[in-house]
Amino acid sequence: MPELPEMENYRRLLNPKIAGQTITQVEINRDKSINVNPTLFINTVANQQIVTVNRRGKHLLFHLDNGQVLLLHLMLGGWMYFGTEEDKPKRTIQVRLSFGNHHLYFIGLRLGYLHLYNEQDVQKELSFLGPEALEPQFTLQAFLHLLHNRRGKIKTKLLDQEFIAGIGNCYSDEICYHAGIKTQRSLEDIGAPEQTQLYHSMKHVLQNALKHGGYMENPFFQGDNLTGGYNNLCLVYDREGEKCKRCGSKIIKEKISSRKTFFCPNCQK
Ligand SMILES: [Zn+2]
Repeated sequence: MPELPEMENYRRLLNPKIAGQTITQVEINRDKSINVNPTLFINTVANQQIVTVNRRGKHLLFHLDNGQVLLLHLMLGGWMYFGTEEDKPKRTIQVRLSFGNHHLYFIGLRLGYLHLYNEQDVQKELSFLGPEALEPQFTLQAFLHLLHNRRGKIKTKLLDQEFIAGIGNCYSDEICYHAGIKTQRSLEDIGAPEQTQLYHSMKHVLQNALKHGGYMENPFFQGDNLTGGYNNLCLVYDREGEKCKRCGSKIIKEKISSRKTFFCPNCQK
């Protein structure tokens, strides 16, 4: 599932392509991907200009000039492609937003969605989210304050979007690996020095992943050399049985409350 770096990568690539552009056509091939009657959706969205694309946690927000917002969550298996009918991927398209000859294709939206809200309702929808992991305002002080008197396993807590917004299964493992802390450990057993390390690892891992375009498998447009660059740079996630790059031990896969977790049994304490 795309996490903060993947969605922020999309946002950065999307804005120069569609901000200020008018949506000339809307095609809905799967009614379940949207939250209102398809005719209403099309009538509200077509002929509107995209003001800007923002991100909150793992969501993207497409702000339209009529004050409406398209709220995207790709969930498991969802992705996007921007291009022409000639170079589009040979996949089922659930929703297509057209900008003249170029189109934004939403693919693999089974659990994912593109919902239509007004500005007020979209804020309500997202009000449960915790602080943005990469925002400068999310300081070490704020992080330590958040961890104060919290219980539960680190991995579970990092995945909790009400706790911190944007981290998922892959980056929670990568962050704990970078910090040298086992994902299974309980928050109450982690002292201030390790909490501080966890904070710096969170910022470092997410920024580094973003710099390399995140881990999405498919390019966002023809000639896109950035998206997915982090795929080969993950150090523990999906690397069961491979050697740890830090100490040479074998990477282990386990389950923590039904979520798989990857870690090094030797250099993560
Ligand atoms: Zn190791």
